[in-house]
Amino acid sequence: MSNEKPKPGLTRRILLAMVLGAATGFGLNALGDLSWVQEYLVDGVLHVLGGLFVAALKMMVVPLVLVSLVVGLTSLGDLRRLGRISLKALALYLLTTALAVSIALALAAAVEPGQGLNLPTTAEFQGKEAPPLSQVFINLVPSNPVQAMAQGNMLQIIVFAILFGIGVTLAGERGRHVLALFRDLDAVIMHMVEVVMRLAPYGVFALIARTFATQGLDLILPLAAYFLTLTAALGVQALLVYPALLRGLAGLNPLRFLAKMRDPATFAFSTASSAATIPVTLRTLEERMGAHNSVTSFTVPLGATINMDGTAMMQGVATVFIANVYGVDLGLSQFLMVVLTATLASIGTAAVPGVGLVMLTLVLNQVGLPVEGIGLIIGIDRLLDMMRTACNVTGDCAVTCILAKGEGALDRARFDDPDAGSVEAATAALEESA
Ligand code: ASP
Repeated sequence: MSNEKPKPGLTRRILLAMVLGAATGFGLNALGDLSWVQEYLVDGVLHVLGGLFVAALKMMVVPLVLVSLVVGLTSLGDLRRLGRISLKALALYLLTTALAVSIALALAAAVEPGQGLNLPTTAEFQGKEAPPLSQVFINLVPSNPVQAMAQGNMLQIIVFAILFGIGVTLAGERGRHVLALFRDLDAVIMHMVEVVMRLAPYGVFALIARTFATQGLDLILPLAAYFLTLTAALGVQALLVYPALLRGLAGLNPLRFLAKMRDPATFAFSTASSAATIPVTLRTLEERMGAHNSVTSFTVPLGATINMDGTAMMQGVATVFIANVYGVDLGLSQFLMVVLTATLASIGTAAVPGVGLVMLTLVLNQVGLPVEGIGLIIGIDRLLDMMRTACNVTGDCAVTCILAKGEGALDRARFDDPDAGSVEAATAALEESA
């Protein structure tokens, strides 16, 4: 990519790449079954470009989370503060998720998607058993931290980093050497994130083009009611609920927030993975919104793992849809069951593409609906996965800003400055200092 003078900002270029990607995807889709298109373009060039981009993002997640958590924890100064932040984060994450499913259920109950439809199931779907709760707790502590990192097990990495951070603090002078190294590493990895972000237009183009090349509109049409109800619910959550919470609980300007959310939201949308988006989420919160690393380093990886509002919304709408298609009436107690299961199901499942459908099996089982119903919606799930992932990440950021504000860890001037911390500004600063 050239680095010439004035050119559209990175966010604009990413948005443009999305539009071009969608248009290219539709075009390729319209070409139909030409085997060379599929083989060389869709499964060739686009697949490789998109795959490289996602891999580059994922590459930074584990080192960044570890290093940034250790740095963040040691700057907290007081372990009681960590306890307070964790409790508040958990409470807010659960609250936003429960709110999200309730909104989704209410909307779905009003629209009744799937009523009178008689759809054939389009695909097989393997269900999943919920792991026993005792195991979920035991699994929080990694018996082998290297394995936890190799598998990208976020909760285990968080636990390891907390203990490590405590060790660093207790080790006095020696700990300070380690901390200095981690601080430098943190800065280095943040610069790596900027480099990958600058390549984003190409990666995003490839990811979106491939999605639309494989997911034509023809799949969506019979499921339009489901698709649109969920889209509307996600819109309400992202554009009304989070802004209201930000304004009401923290007195922050929601429009500023939404404007700065564009980068993480587009990354989440194109990768369909909250986990792969962590580097961009962290960078946006710290550099652009002014949230201090002592809060973000903890709430972001935690949120990516346990806070999936958009996913919970999908489960609400999908449950109503499947119940309608199978002609099953859901009572109030079942609605409550959906809220509870969808909220809890989002804890402890990885933030990767498509995991929402796996969690849906838990919800359907709870309310006694046939799991095969998932076969109805699986065909259009990728696009919805992209949208709900953007909502998930927006929720993580909203909660983080509210928490940071409450902890006196939000630089208000930075939050309010529209240009603060943009990749362009970072590049210009680097060029100046060179
Ligand atoms: N892809 C979503 C995420 O990473 C999870 C899901 O809904 O499948 O947040």
